[in-house]
Amino acid sequence: MSQTRVRSAITSLPSYKPGKAASAIEAEHGITGAIKLSSNENPYPPVPEVVQAMHDACLGVNRYCSYLADDLRTGIADFVGTSQNHIAVGCGSVGLLQQLCLTYLEAGRNAVYPWRSFEAYPIQVTLTGADSIRVPLVDFRFDLQATAEAVTSDTAMVLLATPNNPTGTACSVEQLDEFCKRVPSDVLIMIDEAYREFLDPSYGDPVDLLENHKNVVVSRTFSKAYGLAGTRVGYLVADPAVIDEVNKAMIPFAVNSIAQAGALAAIKHRDAYEPHLQVLRSERKRVADALAEAGYVTPDSQANFVYLPTEDRTAELCLEMEKRGVVTRPFAGEGLRVSIGTPEENDRFLAVWAEVNA
Ligand SMILES: *Cc1c(COP(=O)(O)O)cnc(C)c1O
Repeated sequence: MSQTRVRSAITSLPSYKPGKAASAIEAEHGITGAIKLSSNENPYPPVPEVVQAMHDACLGVNRYCSYLADDLRTGIADFVGTSQNHIAVGCGSVGLLQQLCLTYLEAGRNAVYPWRSFEAYPIQVTLTGADSIRVPLVDFRFDLQATAEAVTSDTAMVLLATPNNPTGTACSVEQLDEFCKRVPSDVLIMIDEAYREFLDPSYGDPVDLLENHKNVVVSRTFSKAYGLAGTRVGYLVADPAVIDEVNKAMIPFAVNSIAQAGALAAIKHRDAYEPHLQVLRSERKRVADALAEAGYVTPDSQANFVYLPTEDRTAELCLEMEKRGVVTRPFAGEGLRVSIGTPEENDRFLAVWAEVNA
């Protein structure tokens, strides 16, 4: 037993269990050809121009990269329609979430967020010694009124994932604007748009909220739509004063030079991603329609996954599908999150789903 003086915030946390790889499932059940639909990754690799840019960047890795990723921030700012001082990049949007929590939270403060939502939230909040105030979902959607009412004088942050992980439901910019008006202006409101590229454009762009609400920060990532999960790059759009503070909590050179090159090329060649994104969006509808036809209505997903409220049968159904080579993400006693894969992978999921429910 180690005698080292580990902080209570750390000892209170369980060790993180990452989603099982297809190869692990194959070994566990003695099968081959398993597919992973458990981490909301893009099933398609990055476009060739992005791979080439990362390859070229490899030749320069003897040098440190740009500290704050200047070229990448300029590229993102042009894309978003703002200036470079409104952008911060980090080691995945979870890296930026950690920076935000370090910047705004400590013991005696709290963060408010709807629950169930992204699993990284309770972990990053707890690490700082702050408390979590969780507001239950209603019909798999955020109850924004109850969320605003849950804010206390000790609240420093609100965390809103829209589309939400794992339910896939989203909030419109009008709803978010109403919410921001109800929350004190010294409370940071993080709007996590990891799945922005899968969202119907009618929901609007939360970056527009920044004009009237300087306490809003919009978080996005290259991990999902751009197929760069393995490189770990995310970005924030926020008021320059917020960006300056958040950058102080960055691990030096957090976004490595290969990741910077890949993300910049992805922005530049984003049109080349569109055909695959269209496939994923239409596949989401096809999967949801097929499930509904089989009597299983899922919440309206605006992300690259569907959520099955399987409740008590979650663990059993997840295991039975794993035995048949389809890996999904279980939330014990609540539901299963199933990422949208290639059309062939989705067919496989639907067939296995029918089999385990027969
Ligand atoms: C996948 C996901 C992220 C992305 O995390 P990265 O660190 O950028 O890979 C962020 N937020 C939510 C809600 C997610 O589901």
